[in-house]
Amino acid sequence: MKEIVKEIGNYVIKKIENFVSYADVRVHMFRFLVIKTENRKLKEIQAKEKYSVALRVMQNGKIGFASITGFNKKSLDKLISNAFSSLKACSTNFELAERKPEKAEVCSNFKLHPCKFPLEEKILICEELNKISITSAKIKVSETWLGEMEEIRYFTSTDGADIITKFISTGIKQTSVAKENGRIQKLSETKSNVGGYEFVYSENWSEFVRKISFLTEKMLHSSFPPKEKIPVILDPKSIGLLLHESLGHACEADLVFSGSSLLKNMLGEKIASESVNIYDSGVEENGVFVPYDDEGVKKGKTEIVKNGVLKSFLHNRETAAKFSTTSTGNARAENAFMLPLVRQTNFFMSPGDYKLEELIEDTKKAIYVSGIGAKGGETNVSTGYFTFTSGVCYLIENGEIKKQLAQIPISGFVTEALSSIDAIANDFSLHFNIFLGCKKEGQRVKVGFGGPHVRVNKVMIGVL
Ligand SMILES: [Zn+2]
Repeated sequence: MKEIVKEIGNYVIKKIENFVSYADVRVHMFRFLVIKTENRKLKEIQAKEKYSVALRVMQNGKIGFASITGFNKKSLDKLISNAFSSLKACSTNFELAERKPEKAEVCSNFKLHPCKFPLEEKILICEELNKISITSAKIKVSETWLGEMEEIRYFTSTDGADIITKFISTGIKQTSVAKENGRIQKLSETKSNVGGYEFVYSENWSEFVRKISFLTEKMLHSSFPPKEKIPVILDPKSIGLLLHESLGHACEADLVFSGSSLLKNMLGEKIASESVNIYDSGVEENGVFVPYDDEGVKKGKTEIVKNGVLKSFLHNRETAAKFSTTSTGNARAENAFMLPLVRQTNFFMSPGDYKLEELIEDTKKAIYVSGIGAKGGETNVSTGYFTFTSGVCYLIENGEIKKQLAQIPISGFVTEALSSIDAIANDFSLHFNIFLGCKKEGQRVKVGFGGPHVRVNKVMIGVL
């Protein structure tokens, strides 16, 4: 496969290099398999392979773009003529910030390639886990999913970039629905892993699916906390979700440039407590694997917030030129059929110095918000108002974790919430979801999110 994608990219570049001031070609191969079992039965198998090629050409400040699906060599000539037609039709001046043309070949870590295992074995594992997840008669619906994904991205350009990246990931998802005395509760949780099939043997998945059903049953008897402003302790997944939605999107420089982000005039301003440090990084343990972006820019670790001060936005080469800076390597496209947009990679808060036990012992009254079962949220990027539905919650009183609470909506204003952080634990974890992605302008990309346990004083339980 590697040879084919390179051959396609090089064929296109050779045909056009003498007619443009700059051009780049992206070739994308995406393969995924999802097995779904429900109430002890195999419900669905989705298996797909998708191929796409994109060509971007520049001449005299004008830009043209065309893309095709499939790897049919005959259609590559059509791709070239479409890109040049689009160039002729371009009416605006376009500028890309400088970048070093890199050459690289990188692959995410894996031990056992998923393709080496027969489908029957994967179905069997999924069915077994599904049986285990039905822990009592109260579990009326149980869905267990197994997913695997492999993608190859090839980037080549007329100025000499030549980058091939390969990302393999796997995951398991459990959704349990419990019912008793007319009350229904549903909890859905995913664990995704950068790597191959070894993940099936490296974790206790029986315990994982049982735990989700057990928590769902407990939620049948859990109460809702009153609607009030009360401190919350967010676990790594919860703070990650909050940061992704409320700050990460507002840092995307296309939104900043258009004037729609609340952060537009806030570079260098204090937007969080002094102990808060936030990064966007292309390669982190158990995060999405983006060592190079879809413009061939090496994605390092971008410092977004340092000691509470906003230091940088996220850029592609186009926004970097507009802001007279360099790209941060955040140009990402779902596939080569689509144009890269400014997207987050792994967006997270770095750990502090509190031990988690100390952080809880030091808390008089708060709600512990776990990310288990948390649902995506929404943010108004121009005001910073965010809302998301928590995972399973617990009441903390006088330094002790007490009863389990129902899932709750949490809302607030991002800079107010980040400025009210008064304790950050020294733990850390990062997450992503193989079954879902972050959506922007119709494109879904996988993103990583996470951080340490964090105590936040100014958020609202309930929606404002
Ligand atoms: Zn998002």
